Amino acid sequence: MKLEHADICIIGAGPAGIFTALSLLEEGDARHIVLIDRGLPIERRHCPKAETGRCVNCDPCRITTGFSGAGAFSDGKLSLSHEVGGDLPDLVGADLVERTIDRVDGLYLKFGADTHVEGVGDKDAVAQIRRRAIEAGLQLVDCPIRHLGTERAQEIYARIERYLVDAGVDLRFSATCRQLVIEGDACKGAVFVQGGETVEMRADHTIVACGRRGAGWFDQLCREHGIAHEAGPVDIGVRVEVRNEIMETVNNVLYESKLIGYPLPYKNKVRTFCQNPGGFVSQENYDGGLAVVNGHSYKERKSSNTNLAILCSQNFREPFDEPIAYAQLVGRLTNMLGAGHILVQRLGDIVDGKRTWPKELSHANVRPTLPDAVAGDITAAMPYRAMTNILNFMFAVDKAIPGFAARETLLYSPELKFYSNRVKMDARFATSLHGLHCLGDSSGWTRGLMMSSVMGYLMGKELAGVATEGTAHVR
Ligand SMILES: Cc1cc2nc3c(=O)[nH]c(=O)nc-3n(C[C@H](O)[C@H](O)[C@H](O)COP(=O)(O)OP(=O)(O)OC[C@H]3O[C@@H](n4cnc5c(N)ncnc54)[C@H](O)[C@@H]3O)c2cc1C
Repeated sequence: MKLEHADICIIGAGPAGIFTALSLLEEGDARHIVLIDRGLPIERRHCPKAETGRCVNCDPCRITTGFSGAGAFSDGKLSLSHEVGGDLPDLVGADLVERTIDRVDGLYLKFGADTHVEGVGDKDAVAQIRRRAIEAGLQLVDCPIRHLGTERAQEIYARIERYLVDAGVDLRFSATCRQLVIEGDACKGAVFVQGGETVEMRADHTIVACGRRGAGWFDQLCREHGIAHEAGPVDIGVRVEVRNEIMETVNNVLYESKLIGYPLPYKNKVRTFCQNPGGFVSQENYDGGLAVVNGHSYKERKSSNTNLAILCSQNFREPFDEPIAYAQLVGRLTNMLGAGHILVQRLGDIVDGKRTWPKELSHANVRPTLPDAVAGDITAAMPYRAMTNILNFMFAVDKAIPGFAARETLLYSPELKFYSNRVKMDARFATSLHGLHCLGDSSGWTRGLMMSSVMGYLMGKELAGVATEGTAHVR
């Protein structure tokens, strides 16, 4: 095993890891920062599906790993509100998060983000949408959005990558972290494998920012090393696809409708998430071949459809406390029914209690934008409670957005969000192990590009010794 040393070792080059480094550099910090990622540099992150038309199961997946993490190939919607993107405000305070959003947004602008902000224009139209939401028993969350767009997000992150390299940050790609170096109650670095070589990287500060993809791996490490954590919720849902005409008003006025409901009979929280006007439904593959549905939209290339996720949060504590394992099983069962593909079903068929047949997909205004999705019966794999929540929520949304719950509306499954394993930390992001910090989606505290970037940015300030309000520095 090769032994190396760094001052700061960051595992995961997603927004959380990247913004930790950017924030340190902003303070003129000259320490040796190593940024490890199991994926590729951004210029080599190319999804072969563009040529093959089908997912060829790259390992690791080029959509979700590599420089900029799940961000580069994402739609790049920056949610400019502390109310969206996770629970970081509960940890460090809403005011600090709101102010830091401005700073981080400024950095995205500096690296080339579009200056236009969606969802702040027509106040009367917003009021009208809110009135209809209230009538339907739903809450509408205001959230300005800066839309990078998939193509432009890649350019922005490419500039950031070059900037970090030029500033001397030590980027290691195709490097998979396997273990943490633990001595007593302290973390002294990480062990990773790169090109067949095992490296022990000893560091004063080890920062795990491995995203949703790494959440299962980090969950195991928490159990193994007694890193304090608790089971967080897991989101199970569907990706809904309708014609743009149905969502026109919402798309034009808000770009993204953040609707929340607590439908009967369970009164669980159900919400819309990640709305893509003129977008495309996509597939991402998790370790072990789990195929999960997602969606994105391009800045220039547009489809005739809008897709969005409907998610139900579920939590387990006693006697079972493994929400990730639960959601994975739901996903695998759905994949099994789709012979490894994403399943798609029409809402009308769900209501009628029948599967959807492939030829029936062409009997509609809305055509699937995920061509390799397989028509079938998602209700055969979806837990009853989640399915009931989704349907009752959709019928409520239909009152606010007529046509949303039309018989032809498409539901894709499995749509799963693994946020679990909320790592117990203080406002300085210190875990129960000295020298170990955990950021971004893998910490369980964030759920989006902006919030994970904000968490990284605040981490950088902590490490650089710049006290932010409510926190002390850890240098
Ligand atoms: C298709 C898609 C669309 C999305 N669209 C949006 C959107 O429009 N707006 C929004 O706010 N959010 C969106 N998201 C979510 C957003 O991308 C994430 O919330 C965000 O990227 C989380 O940042 P992160 O730094 O915590 O983790 P990630 O971005 O997931 O980065 C984690 C990195 O860690 C690396 N890693 C994992 N395990 C290891 C290991 N063991 N060793 C080394 N490296 C490892 C991975 O390769 C990855 O690069 C989308 C996600 C997807 C998948």
